[in-house]
Amino acid sequence: MSIAGSENHEMLRSLPSVDEVVRQLTLSQALQETPRAAVIEAIRQAIDDCRQKIREGQAVPTTQLPELILQRTMQLLRERGGQRQRPVINATGILLHTNLGRAPLADHAVDRIRESAGYTNVELDLENGRRSERGAHVCDRLCLLTGAEAAVVVNNCAAATMLALNTLAAGREVIVSRGQLVEIGGGYRLPEVFSAAGTILREVGTTNRTYLKDYQSAVSDDTAAIIRVHRSNFCQSGFVTEPALAELVQLAQERSLPLIDDLGSGCVTDLSALGISEPMVQASVAAGAELTLFSGDKLLGGPQAGIIVGRSTWIQRMKRSPMMRALRADKLILAALEATVELHLSEQTRKKLPLLAMLFRSAEELRRDCEGLLHGLDVPESVSVSIESTVCEVGGGSVPGSALPGFALRVSGIPCDDFSRILRRQPVPVMARIQQGQVWIEMRTVMDHQRADLRHTLQEAIRQTVTKAES
Ligand SMILES: *Cc1c(COP(=O)(O)O)cnc(C)c1O
Repeated sequence: MSIAGSENHEMLRSLPSVDEVVRQLTLSQALQETPRAAVIEAIRQAIDDCRQKIREGQAVPTTQLPELILQRTMQLLRERGGQRQRPVINATGILLHTNLGRAPLADHAVDRIRESAGYTNVELDLENGRRSERGAHVCDRLCLLTGAEAAVVVNNCAAATMLALNTLAAGREVIVSRGQLVEIGGGYRLPEVFSAAGTILREVGTTNRTYLKDYQSAVSDDTAAIIRVHRSNFCQSGFVTEPALAELVQLAQERSLPLIDDLGSGCVTDLSALGISEPMVQASVAAGAELTLFSGDKLLGGPQAGIIVGRSTWIQRMKRSPMMRALRADKLILAALEATVELHLSEQTRKKLPLLAMLFRSAEELRRDCEGLLHGLDVPESVSVSIESTVCEVGGGSVPGSALPGFALRVSGIPCDDFSRILRRQPVPVMARIQQGQVWIEMRTVMDHQRADLRHTLQEAIRQTVTKAES
């Protein structure tokens, strides 16, 4: 046996047991929230990693082994802890940030989730004591809001598209413009949804130009529906054309076909004052779309949900579909959606929806917010924090090209990658915007109750980053 081999053997024998590491760790404050089984699993992994390194021939002084394993354990726990869901301060300026859970809920919606968490009459009519239809109340309210005859709520808009296509057109053709065969993001691609729903895609027109006559000549005995899909996350300009919704509705009616309008973003409030011209749900219903589809957590500003409004006969058929049971929304979602829709129903309460409040924050307000935040910061001389004008976007695969002017804090003179990482790893994590190698703190998406935490976290992260850079 070589000397190196015996050293290697010595190191392997010196590896601590899981129990020994557990005893060292129990003192650590940070571990109090972590379940014991997860700590043990991380220790086991850390010891395995160390054993592997030694076997590969790395020299590790036996005296340093306990410390190395401890460090590796803490690193593994931190990495896994980073996945645990917790509140995050969104300082990216992207209002519907899919990685951050899209729309923040109104307080009222959160209260209603709490109220419904125990037993609740989700499928019970308290008037007569009989079983009722899940979501009946929120569907009533959705009809009131959109002017539709009937409504149904499912898990998300992708589920709504699946359910609508499958119910109306399984085994048959649905006509769609080539200019609307979109990928929404996260791998949601319309042609794949068609095949998953068991329908046959009948593409018409070209990427940039589709005429009414293209739809007309595609209608056959195999046609089950015409679908219009909102190009949610990109714009087309230049040499482009497509028929207006009213023209498609007329064609569909002439041929006794349903027209499905997949809007996605689900705008129910006129946002033209902000330069945002998203198609509105009410307009789609009024124009005569048989079914209009949209998300609950985009511009509606509610929980994740897929909403279908339209003709009662189609909605009833969807509710009886076996798919419905797999796609139906949970009682907590229905409670939050009820509250969200109720807030939309009156001009006074609409402002209580955080998404709308954030959209309408003026540049002047944001500049004052920046001043307030900067004033409370104690910034070291080497670091520079300035107030800069910026432009925010709505995001979340909606409102392409939206540009909301405002102000942000720009932090420079500090290693950008370190700073943004340290910001993310604070007890109240802050997601900032990185641009031109600098960290930008956008105020538009910071919620009112998060301001004190934001100031504290910024202060702490600047201090830690500067200390790290100096060492
Ligand atoms: C966003 C979007 C979807 C998917 O909605 P989810 O609620 O995210 O499932 C479907 N269609 C369109 C047009 C969209 O914009």
